[in-house]
Amino acid sequence: MKIVEVLTEYGTLALDRSFSYLYDGKKRIGERYRVRISFGPQRVVGFVLRLIETAKSQEELEKEKGFSFKTLKEEDILDEEPLLDDSLLSLAKEVASYYFSPLICVLQTMLPPSLSPRNSTLKAPKIAYEKWVRLLDRSEEGLTDKQIELLRLVALRGPILKKEAGSASILGKLIEKRKVEIYLEEKHRLKLKEEEREQAHVLSELQEAAYRYLLESEKAVNLLEGVTGSGKTEVYLHLAERYLEQGKGVLLLVPEINLTPALMDYCLRRFGKKVAILHSGLSGAERYDEYRRIASGEARVVVGARSAVFSPIKNLGLIILDEEHVESYKQDNAPFYHAREVAIMRAKNEKAKLVLGSATPTLETRARALKGVYGYTTMKKRVNEKPLPKTTIVDLTDRHNFGKQSEKISLPLLNKIQEKLEKHEQVLLLLNRRGYWTGVECPRCGYIFVCPKCAGNMTYHKEDNMLKCHHCGHVELYPECCPKCGYTKLRRIGYGTERVVKEIKDLFPKAKVARMDSDIGKVSHQAETILRDFRDGKYDILVGTQMIAKGHDFPLLTLSAVVLADIGLALPTYRASERTFELIAQAVGRSGRSAKEGEAVIQTFNPRNYAIVYGAKQDYESFFITEMKERKIAQYPPYTYLILLNFSSKKEEKCDKAAMDFKKDLQAKNFENVTLLGPLVPYFSLENGKYRRSLLLKYKKREVLEEYLRDLLKRFSSVAGVRISINVDPLDY
Ligand code: ADP
Ligand code: ZN
Repeated sequence: MKIVEVLTEYGTLALDRSFSYLYDGKKRIGERYRVRISFGPQRVVGFVLRLIETAKSQEELEKEKGFSFKTLKEEDILDEEPLLDDSLLSLAKEVASYYFSPLICVLQTMLPPSLSPRNSTLKAPKIAYEKWVRLLDRSEEGLTDKQIELLRLVALRGPILKKEAGSASILGKLIEKRKVEIYLEEKHRLKLKEEEREQAHVLSELQEAAYRYLLESEKAVNLLEGVTGSGKTEVYLHLAERYLEQGKGVLLLVPEINLTPALMDYCLRRFGKKVAILHSGLSGAERYDEYRRIASGEARVVVGARSAVFSPIKNLGLIILDEEHVESYKQDNAPFYHAREVAIMRAKNEKAKLVLGSATPTLETRARALKGVYGYTTMKKRVNEKPLPKTTIVDLTDRHNFGKQSEKISLPLLNKIQEKLEKHEQVLLLLNRRGYWTGVECPRCGYIFVCPKCAGNMTYHKEDNMLKCHHCGHVELYPECCPKCGYTKLRRIGYGTERVVKEIKDLFPKAKVARMDSDIGKVSHQAETILRDFRDGKYDILVGTQMIAKGHDFPLLTLSAVVLADIGLALPTYRASERTFELIAQAVGRSGRSAKEGEAVIQTFNPRNYAIVYGAKQDYESFFITEMKERKIAQYPPYTYLILLNFSSKKEEKCDKAAMDFKKDLQAKNFENVTLLGPLVPYFSLENGKYRRSLLLKYKKREVLEEYLRDLLKRFSSVAGVRISINVDPLDY
C-alpha cells in the first residue's frame, strides 16, 4: 500500500498543502507524477509530492488517523515518468516561497501546457499541423463586440493562426455561426536561408576582455554593461560555445523571442541541432517535443523568453539574460515571478554562471554590481568605433518648433526625416502608445468613454473601428454618437502609433511606412515579416512602440526619434523615470549601428527632465547617480523592497474593510523598518468589474516579517467575497 501525498490543481494559499490518497495498484506511480483525484465533489488533477510505502492496510490506516481515505485507481495515474527532476522541483519550491505563491501555481507556470497539472489541459498533444482561421462571411449582425473584434482581425490580416485568435470560446462562436473556419496546414519549421549564413566575428579587444572576465569570474551573478552596439550578443555566443565544449548546458533568455529573428537565425547557425528555440509560434505539440528534447539532453542550448528560465536543461553551466532591464521578464499575473530572480536562484542552486546583459541595467542590478555582490564588467564603446548618435531635444512647448504641416511632428524632426529619405537611409519613430486616439469624450455632456471592467480609458483603433481597453482587453464598437446625450461630434484626444503612421504618410506620401506594435505583433508571422523587411530596406520609416526600441539591429537606420517622450513619466510607479530613461536611451541606441553615423531626435514637453536629458545623451552614469538619490529620498528600491497586496471584491465596502483589517493586523506587530502605504485606490480602480484596493509594503529585511505575512495571507485568502493577490517586487501599483 502507498500513501500518495498530492497537491490539488487549485492554486490558492488556503489549499497550499498536500492531501493524502491511497494506492495499491500495479501500474507504476512516482513522485512528481500527475494523478486524477476526487476532491470534494470534483474530479481534478493533482501532483504527487511524496509517496510513502506502508505495510498497513487501508482499515488500519483509517483507524489510526480517524478518517477515511480516498483511493486512486490505475487509470488515475496520468504519467509514466516524473514531470520534472528534483532540482526543478526545489527551484519551484523556492520560487513559491519567495513569491508567496501556492506551489501548484508555480508548477503550472513552469511546465508546458500539455504537461501542466490542471484538468483543462489534459488533452494529449497531437498534431504536427497548424490550425489557421480564415474568413467565410464578413457580415456582423448578431455578433457581440468581442466577436466582431476577432472577425475584423481575420478580415484585415488574412488567415491567422488559431492560437493568435485569443479566446477559444469567442472563436468557437464565430465558427458556429459560419463566419470563419479552421483549416489545417502543415507546420513550417524554422528554416534557415543558406545565403544568410554569417561567420562568427573575431572578438574585438573590448569584447575579448569582457569575455575573459565573465569566463573567469568566481561570482554566480555577473553584469555585462555594454553600450548599445557594443556587441554583447557576440560575447554571449562565444561564452555559450565555450560552455558547450565543456559539456555544459546553456540557457539564453531574451525579452521577446519572436522579435529577435536575427538571434534565432544566429543560434540555429551556430548550434544547429543542439539548440531548442522556445518561441511563441510553437504549437502545443511542438512545445511538448522541445520540452522533451531538452529534458533528455538532446538539446543543449535553449533560447527563449521569460518562461524558458524553467527549461529542464541538464547539467546547466551558463545562463545569459539579455536586456536585463526589460520589464517583460516579470510575469504580470500570479505568481508574478521575475525571470531574473528565478535565474539567480537557479544559478546558485545548480552552480551555474549567470550573465546579465544590458546597456541600461536596472538600478537594483547596477547597485549590486557596484557593491561587489555581482561580478561586473563593461564595454563602453561601440564595436564599429562609431560615436553614439548625436541627439537633439525638441521642446514641444515652443510653438516656433512647429510649422503649418503638422502639430505632432516638429520642424526639426520633419527636416531630418526629409534629409534621410533623400539619402535613402532609414528612420525609426517611436511612440509608446498604440491605437489612433487615446481617448474619446463628448464635448456637450462631458461623457468620457471608460472601460466598464477596469475603469481605464478606452483607446480608439481606426484599423478595425473599435474602442479598446489596453489594460484588460475589453472592446466596444465605436459609436456614432454619445451614448448619454446623442451628440454626434465626439471629441478625440491624444494620438497613438496608428495616427502617427497616417500623419507620416500624409507628410511624406512617397515614403514606405510600416508600423510595429503589439496589435501588429498579435499576428506573429506578420510581425516577423515587417521587421525583416525593414531590416532589408524595404521600408523607409518604421513607426512603433517600445517593441522596436529593444535589441534590434537595423543596419540602414540612421535616425531614431521619440515622438513624445513624456508618456511614461506620469505613470503611477516609482520606476517612471527609469522607464523613460531606458526607452529613450534604447531608442537612440538603435541609430547608426553600422557604417554610417546615427542621429536622434527627442520630442518632449519636459526638455529639462533628467530622465529625458540623460536618456538623449545615453548618459547612464549620470542618470544612475541622480536616480539613486531620488530613490534614497523616497525610500524605494534598491533601498527598500516592495510587496504589493491587491484586494478585489464585488462589494466596495468589503474590499475596503479587508484591506483595512489587513493593514491594522500588520501594523499592530510594529515590525522594524516596515512601512505600509494605503489602502490605495489603484490607477485601474476596477478589476473585471470588481472594486480594487491595494496596500504597498516597504521593507528592508524580509526575514523579519516573512512568517507573519505568510500566515496573514493564508487567513485573508479565505475571507468570503474578497480575493487577495500578492505581487512581490511589483513594477507598477
Ligand atoms: P549590442 O547587443 O551590444 O547592442 P550587438 O551584439 O547587436 O550589440 O552588435 C552590434 C553589431 O556589431 C552587430 O551588427 C554585430 O554583428 C556587430 N559585431 C559584433 N561583434 C563584432 C566584431 N567583433 N566584429 C565586427 N562586428 C561585430
Ligand atoms: Zn479594461
